[in-house]
Amino acid sequence: MAVQADQAPQTSTPAAAAPEAPRPQDMRVAIIGAGMGGLATALALAKKGFSDIHLYENATGLGFVGAGIQLAPNLVRILTRLGCWEAIEKEATEIRETSIRDGASDAELTHVHMPNIRKMYGYPHCTGHRASLAGAIYDACLKEPSIKFHFGCTFEEVTEWTPKVAFTITKRESNAPDAPTETLRETADVFLAADGVKSKTRTQMMATLGHEASVEDTGQAAYRIMIPREKMEHDPEMLALIDSNQVTRWIGAKRHWIAYPVHNKTIYNMSSTQPDENFAAAPSATYTTTGSKADMMGVFSDFCPLVQRLMDFVPEGEVCEWKLRMHKPLPTWVYETTALIGDACHPTLPHLNQGAAMAIEDAAVIAEVLSRAPDTDPATIQRCLKIYEFMRKKRTTTLVDLAAFSGRTLHLGDSKAKEERDRMFAASKQSGANVPDKWASPDVQKMIYSHDCMKLTADMFDGLYEIL
Ligand SMILES: Cc1cc2nc3c(=O)[nH]c(=O)nc-3n(C[C@H](O)[C@H](O)[C@H](O)COP(=O)(O)OP(=O)(O)OC[C@H]3O[C@@H](n4cnc5c(N)ncnc54)[C@H](O)[C@@H]3O)c2cc1C
Repeated sequence: MAVQADQAPQTSTPAAAAPEAPRPQDMRVAIIGAGMGGLATALALAKKGFSDIHLYENATGLGFVGAGIQLAPNLVRILTRLGCWEAIEKEATEIRETSIRDGASDAELTHVHMPNIRKMYGYPHCTGHRASLAGAIYDACLKEPSIKFHFGCTFEEVTEWTPKVAFTITKRESNAPDAPTETLRETADVFLAADGVKSKTRTQMMATLGHEASVEDTGQAAYRIMIPREKMEHDPEMLALIDSNQVTRWIGAKRHWIAYPVHNKTIYNMSSTQPDENFAAAPSATYTTTGSKADMMGVFSDFCPLVQRLMDFVPEGEVCEWKLRMHKPLPTWVYETTALIGDACHPTLPHLNQGAAMAIEDAAVIAEVLSRAPDTDPATIQRCLKIYEFMRKKRTTTLVDLAAFSGRTLHLGDSKAKEERDRMFAASKQSGANVPDKWASPDVQKMIYSHDCMKLTADMFDGLYEIL
């Protein structure tokens, strides 16, 4: 029978399927900065199935500053879930106690035992080598085909914020001053700036929003020295330090040292904070310069012989000096589909040892929110990034404030306040509670270490998505 013109022909071919809506996981994500925050963001997104992740790093390769870092349980929880803790743990030292001592006399002000950290929080508190932390995250990233590294690529500026983020990158072939460069014009659906305390993205975002975002000097600087085991092993007092599972602080007016073993107890890592007096002439663009050993010895000349001997082991030229910098709290971390991560939005003084941990928590939360985006509309992505900001801002502000407060307490000079502090240190020795050094205080540890930012975000996402 002939088919009538107005009759639909019967066909065995199904009607063409409607094009599938783009998946959030297929959005192009640009990350600026391959520091702790940027690397962890790339890895966390890849683990959530994101397929098109581009990481732009100014340096031509990853050269991590050889120094120690504390790996607190809230950080270890995330590293475990991202599958990169095992490699770090192999060389880490599990911390079970801390001793806080008067810098001048070496008299112990308090001693906090923390044998149950692993049991209480499900993860240990360790110290490790920065290179092993960053290296393990990087190695895990290399196993993810969805992550593409662009080294020697400096982010310059965002040229359009929406609907896609358009931005320029200067690419150079090598670190040589006369190396050829080319300008790349890139785009992304999501732009995540983990470009550190000097973040260009932050400056541009704040200028666009009409806010100031200048970096401020804290008036403080830090020395970092690393002492090989061979130098310490002939001295029983020093051997006890490097063989311990202990973080030791020596404190004095406006200054202190914090020290712990790293790298399977083959290196004793010491890091100080002191007034930035020897640093005035340092160019503002640098964080890390080689410091003078003589200046360092001078700054701590009234500290006890043990600290003097430890400092004296460091060869001239191997004293590392950092300028500690901050900026005022920002009104927002998110603009359109761009968000700031880590030191770009919440740089901190190091006294709680949570800077990298906070950057990596940010990364984990970013992955939680973006993977739950119901669609790829820029307004949806912005809403998800606002949830990230909501989940992170209060906590990081609290930790940044606590670190500053702890520094002021540790650095008290002769005064009634110092007497009261030392009385509290003595009392904490008996009770084990309310330690004036907030890093060592069990109540503060509980607040920091029990925080499971990934679970909280997963639990709260739907409710927040309705109201933000
Ligand atoms: C003395 C001291 C001790 C510390 N101790 C600890 C500790 O024990 N535990 C802890 O958790 N934290 C510690 N921290 C803090 C921690 O190091 C930082 O908070 C953390 O590294 C921040 O990570 P980030 O990814 O935000 O920034 P960064 O690690 O600074 O990374 C930023 C990256 O962005 C790149 N970049 C910058 N601009 C551009 C651009 N325009 N284009 C492309 N790439 C760019 C940089 O090259 C860099 O690789 C300490 C800090 C100091 C100063």
